[in-house]
Amino acid sequence: MQRSMEASTFLVLENFIGGKFVPCQSHIDSYDPSTGQVYCKVPDSGEREVEAAVAAAKEAFPGWAARSPEQRAQVLNKMADLIDTHLEDLALAESKDQGKTLTFARTVDIPRSAYNFRFFASSVLHHTTDCSQMDHMGCLNYTVRCPVGVAGLISPWNLPLYLLTWKIAPAIATGNTVVAKPSEMTSVTAWMMCKLMQQAGIPPGVVNIVFGTGARAGDALVGHPDVPLISFTGSTATAQVITERSAPYCKKLSLELGGKNPAVIFADADLERCIETTVRSSFSNQGEICLCTSRIYVERGVYETFLERFVAAARKWKTGVPLDPGNSNGALISKEHLEKVRGFVALAKSEGATVHCGEGVDTLELPESNVGGYFMGPTVISGVPQDSRVMQEEIFGPVTCVLPFDGEDQAVALANGVRYGLAATVWSRDVAKVHRVAAGLQAGLVWANCWLVRDLKLPFGGTKSSGVGREGGKDSYHFFTEVKTVTVKY
Ligand code: NAD
Repeated sequence: MQRSMEASTFLVLENFIGGKFVPCQSHIDSYDPSTGQVYCKVPDSGEREVEAAVAAAKEAFPGWAARSPEQRAQVLNKMADLIDTHLEDLALAESKDQGKTLTFARTVDIPRSAYNFRFFASSVLHHTTDCSQMDHMGCLNYTVRCPVGVAGLISPWNLPLYLLTWKIAPAIATGNTVVAKPSEMTSVTAWMMCKLMQQAGIPPGVVNIVFGTGARAGDALVGHPDVPLISFTGSTATAQVITERSAPYCKKLSLELGGKNPAVIFADADLERCIETTVRSSFSNQGEICLCTSRIYVERGVYETFLERFVAAARKWKTGVPLDPGNSNGALISKEHLEKVRGFVALAKSEGATVHCGEGVDTLELPESNVGGYFMGPTVISGVPQDSRVMQEEIFGPVTCVLPFDGEDQAVALANGVRYGLAATVWSRDVAKVHRVAAGLQAGLVWANCWLVRDLKLPFGGTKSSGVGREGGKDSYHFFTEVKTVTVKY
């Protein structure tokens, strides 16, 4: 893996344009969240770099679009194999760059990145288009699907390579070329992947990666007239800016945004499985997954029992040095983010809530070299009013709130009582109740008696302020292609 070093201290990344690594004149500091030290310099790209990347993508488009899906799939499968081969290097880099545990990167982020390529290599071969009956006014009507052109892909910092490849794989499988901009806070694995793309035989210009901030590189990409499609995963606030910025060009948009995901736990649930899974759904990846549970509604009959057992289980979810396999959580992404998350805990306290464990209650034991890292233990809060900002806004950290409810109707009303609608979980042994509650929940994804089980063939995405559009098998195929209806008189 190519790694250039500046003053033999920092890892210095380069943009990847037209199949080549291209140095950038200015850089942004990137921190190791587990130490709080700068360790990497990320290109601070702007209009010029984006312009070069779009030009390369435009040039590569006709050749790539002309390849058959089978030919493109071969290259995607090679990418998947190469990611598997380099799993350990990529997992180490993801953990250092993002703060997540090496175990999580090794078992979730990187395997899923390989699977994204493998899945879309296969799924692109199995779609069909429509054809109407032969005798419709003496015409044959059928549809064809064509790639859109240069796809602009913008991804966040929480699952860096996982979410970037979730966009790159379907975009190129369907014949588009790409200009991608990963988060400026977690760019290293995307940069490492560029080398693998060269080895896999992805032709120059098919995938271009421009590193930098949202305000400069991201804005230049969204505002580029020759990029007709933007797939964005990130915050709702940024999505609003992107929507406005792309409106004059009528761009095709897919927006995968924030969540404030409820768990609805009925008294007849299998509490042991429920508690084990709800600790995982609340705190995995430091709570920095858009699908993490942050509001837990428990039927009053089991509320006290649940709370006691849940807090005990949360305390066993250890936080510390990301490389230690004994830890379930590592560090949060940045100092600013840690302060924001802590601010929500302080707000809950000021509103009279009880903090049962974690922030301000339990002390983390960290080695000397990690005391400057951005660590925070799993924090469980009860007694927060439903209308508090703590219950209404996305915290995106290891914080979850527990509240009692009485009956199905109240549970659904509380679960739906936020502006987000990404994911929800329901826990009950009563199948009919599970179906009723699932039908009433305003969410793009409902998991019953489980969490984060994903069949990539099925749609992924949110309702309300959690997003616009869906991604996944057929939905990604539709988003990354334009449909054309052809009518032939016979
Ligand atoms: P963010 O919105 O701050 O940034 C996301 C990406 O957008 C980054 O690459 C950033 O540089 C870029 N960006 C910022 N401003 C931009 C602009 N004006 N124009 C173009 N690009 C711009 O989000 P984040 O803090 O990186 O990620 C956390 C958020 O992402 C959370 O809200 C989380 O819920 C959400 N998320 C959603 C999903 C999902 O699938 N629904 C998945 C993961 C994360």
